Amino acid sequence: MLGPVLLAAARSEGIRRLVSAAPVTRPVVDRFVAGEHLDDAADAVRKLTGQGLQVTLDHLGEDITDPAEALRNRDAYLALADVLASEGLGMRAEMSVKLSAFGQALPGGHDLALANVAPVVEAAAAAGTAVTLDMEDHTTVDSTLAILSELRERFPQTGAVLQSYLFRTEDDCRALAGEGSRVRLVKGAYKEPATVAFQDKREVDRAYVRCLRILMSGQGYPMVGSHDPRMVAIAQELARQTGRKLDEYEFQMLYGIREAEQKRLVAEGHRMRVYIPYGTDWYGYFMRRLAERPANLAFFLRSLATR
Ligand code: FAD
Repeated sequence: MLGPVLLAAARSEGIRRLVSAAPVTRPVVDRFVAGEHLDDAADAVRKLTGQGLQVTLDHLGEDITDPAEALRNRDAYLALADVLASEGLGMRAEMSVKLSAFGQALPGGHDLALANVAPVVEAAAAAGTAVTLDMEDHTTVDSTLAILSELRERFPQTGAVLQSYLFRTEDDCRALAGEGSRVRLVKGAYKEPATVAFQDKREVDRAYVRCLRILMSGQGYPMVGSHDPRMVAIAQELARQTGRKLDEYEFQMLYGIREAEQKRLVAEGHRMRVYIPYGTDWYGYFMRRLAERPANLAFFLRSLATR
């Protein structure tokens, strides 16, 4: 019940100011966000890759209102690419971007986002790594997939995210299951209307399995983005059935969530990539994490009560 309320709050400027200013918020945010600065992110990269995990870094920022912010976000990613190049980690550390941070929702946003993200994708390639385009609300999917297709002409290793809660996603999986494609499959984290998305969790889960089957049976590289033990087990079974080797797909989980499970999968020989968000603009990301799991919200409320 609370999920949709929190997802609506994730896009409210008033509630953003209130939550961001509350002194108790910070320690709870720290559980999900690696820190505010590039140095914090670099520390998290060293720690996690030292434990055999792989990572993807997200410089937090979304829904910008001014083209100058898009340039600042681009520059933050270019600085990140420099650090990744100097650490020499190759594909063990990749980058994830939200195109709304590059101007996608502004007038002329499609071209603006493409122009701003292209140098980041190029810098990633020069650093020996790749970029995955996160997926935001359903109104952005066509534009994001069109930008993906343009980027892949020069940088075929560029990845995308597909969300199983959208009715369209099985078709998108079929279109993106070809050789060389890299698709992170997730359930979806935004508040979507019943005209475009399943509302029942069980239906979202069933769609996730159908989509996973398409990706695992295809020629691309599936990235299984879920903390759900059932989805992890089903992915392992589908990989076995389709004859995929351990380096022909990977699991992905978010920073600070199910860390023991992340390590268990690595110990079993799996590729496990942790999505590391960092930066000051953590509000939307944080609220989506509270919305998707009552225990996360309870953790936040307990920290308020124990002040
Ligand atoms: P849920 O359906 O939320 O939970 C199922 C079960 O998983 C739970 O019952 C529990 O057993 C277990 N579980 C879940 N969370 C926890 C926890 N904190 N601790 C212990 N057990 C837990 N969404 C987008 O819309 N766009 C994106 O670009 C995007 N990128 C993502 C990148 C990564 C790497 C990941 C992992 C997720 C991303 N998401 C994205 C979020 C995603 O859409 C889901 O909202 C989120 O992952 C929750 O769904 P779930 O599959 O993990 O499991």
